[in-house]
Amino acid sequence: MPAFKSAIASAKTEIDAITNSLEKPSFANTIEALEFSGQQLDRISSIFFNLNSAETNDAIQKIAQDVSPLLSEFSNDISLNEDLFKRVKAVQDMKESLNLTVEQTTLLDKKYKSFSRNGANLSEEQKKKLREIDKQLSQLKLTFGENVLAETNNFEMLITNEDELSGLPEGTMEAAKQLAESKDKDGWLFTLDYPSYIPFMTYADNRMLRKKLSIAAGKKAFKGDKLDNQQNVLNIAKLRFERAQLLGYKTHAHFVLEERMAKTPQKVEAFLEDLLTKAKPAALREFSELQEFAKSMDGIEQLEKWDSAYYAEKLKQKLFDLDDEKLKPYFKLENVIKGVFLVSNKLFGLHFEEITSIDKYHEDVLTYKVTNSDGRLVSILYADFFPREGKRNGAWMTSYKPQYVLKGENERPHISIVCNFTKPTKSKPSLLTFNEVTTLFHEFGHALHGMLANTTYPSLSGTSVFWDFVELPSQVFENWCYEKEALELFATHYETGVVIPMDLIQKIKDSSAFHEGMQTLRQLSFGLLDMSWHGIDPTSILEVKSHELQAFEGTNLFPDVIENCMSTSFSHIFQGGYSSGYYSYKWAEVLDADAFEFFQEKGIFDKGVATNFVENVLSKGGIEDPMVLYKRFRGKEPRPDALLKRAGLIEK
Ligand SMILES: [Zn+2]
Repeated sequence: MPAFKSAIASAKTEIDAITNSLEKPSFANTIEALEFSGQQLDRISSIFFNLNSAETNDAIQKIAQDVSPLLSEFSNDISLNEDLFKRVKAVQDMKESLNLTVEQTTLLDKKYKSFSRNGANLSEEQKKKLREIDKQLSQLKLTFGENVLAETNNFEMLITNEDELSGLPEGTMEAAKQLAESKDKDGWLFTLDYPSYIPFMTYADNRMLRKKLSIAAGKKAFKGDKLDNQQNVLNIAKLRFERAQLLGYKTHAHFVLEERMAKTPQKVEAFLEDLLTKAKPAALREFSELQEFAKSMDGIEQLEKWDSAYYAEKLKQKLFDLDDEKLKPYFKLENVIKGVFLVSNKLFGLHFEEITSIDKYHEDVLTYKVTNSDGRLVSILYADFFPREGKRNGAWMTSYKPQYVLKGENERPHISIVCNFTKPTKSKPSLLTFNEVTTLFHEFGHALHGMLANTTYPSLSGTSVFWDFVELPSQVFENWCYEKEALELFATHYETGVVIPMDLIQKIKDSSAFHEGMQTLRQLSFGLLDMSWHGIDPTSILEVKSHELQAFEGTNLFPDVIENCMSTSFSHIFQGGYSSGYYSYKWAEVLDADAFEFFQEKGIFDKGVATNFVENVLSKGGIEDPMVLYKRFRGKEPRPDALLKRAGLIEK
């Protein structure tokens, strides 16, 4: 806390020095000075919040709570600082005459927008209005989230008859029994939390119980009681629209997409519609196959939503007979790490040397010095693979220090990847599931974006890119996990040393495309629903459910469930930050498939394509519009064809 307080104080002094300067505003004394202000605070924040994710404790959590209001107050002080904005605007107004580089222009626009998008250009009265809207919006989003959470927690399904557990895996039953015990109940308790809900919907043989659980999940915050979110949804959509209009944008989606690769709602809608047209035939085919399968298996006449995961799992088992236990021996953690390093070496000439001379926050953390083919330092890499108390779930990439150039010195970054893989035991090494293998490659792809960064300004460096572009390096890197040439380098049996058999690789590929049509339709339906709330003037929408039905019209496969509603618990877009952004999941897939196709055309270890990818994408961070960067790499705009082929939705 003392470090934070002192760093905030010095950052304020640095800002004051810019604002109080007697010199005429210039790019150097205003924009660059602003960019390099608060470096100490950034450094302390990164270290602290990285620790809060990977190695936290009560004391750290307490500081996190105490410091968060101080940090938001500090950033508000900057974005509402009128004198500072005057100087930034003065530089922006003479932009054309400044002879700026591309990167400098992007930095200037970004700084200017960070004020204007927060209302700096508005009159006093409009500013007051904006602050009022923001206050209401944050309250509504909070209430929305609290209602969803309460609805999730309020539902329980207690099973006391063991027959009703038929089909469930051992582990799921055990967890349900423990949950019941923890609440002093006899039997097995199921809830709407994913670790309980998903296995039940996937494996439970009892159709009535699956229906009960499914409807309960779909009814969250849609019961007309005090936890109902319908009015909140309508209010949030309307306030967002009002806010966008106040700032001079046509809709909320126009406001959001200005800072995305997709740029406009029209582009997003065309993108979603195009994929829909192309994926729909496959989805319909898969659906009728699944319907046939369910009919022959259990005499099901009409497939309902609560049948989908269950019969899909059964059909998948029948078609592929592929389970994790068959694959795991080929993916010993040490071998997969070696594989990731080898692939990076073959593509980008990187060398990884384990070093023990630098501090780390836990003994499990591995530390590497990364150099290029000339032996020059590229990055420091931290890798933290195993779960433990005080570490949050999931996997992520982060940095302790960004890359930037200051006073002629190219400061190299400190990058970290954090995962939660199975720990080795005395008798068995850490063996990864295939999903964990792709996770490691995914996070490593983000890490490459960070490590190979080569820009001047830290806020444009590495993964500091538009949201719908940030998953390109990570997702494209996953593709090597499916390639024979790459797997042969590292996927060897941990006991026998035998390389993974080709038929297993083929099965992995085939099964990964299983039901891609239906999955795609589902993702598209969420994206279209998102745009239906945010890409238009929502003041004419009077009723949530009928609006939703309209938005879902082209993507429906299953009969509608009248007592269910998606929007009232769609936290991604009404509580989290995904409003007008849900499309970006599919967008990123289109990018990665299109980019990887380029590698496939020339050879997946082709040095030319790899160098091109570094020069135009991995090293460039956010210094230019991502579409420009991408086209320079690929020679053309991304097209969905490669994804559709990979997903088996069109002929190869
Ligand atoms: Zn990612």
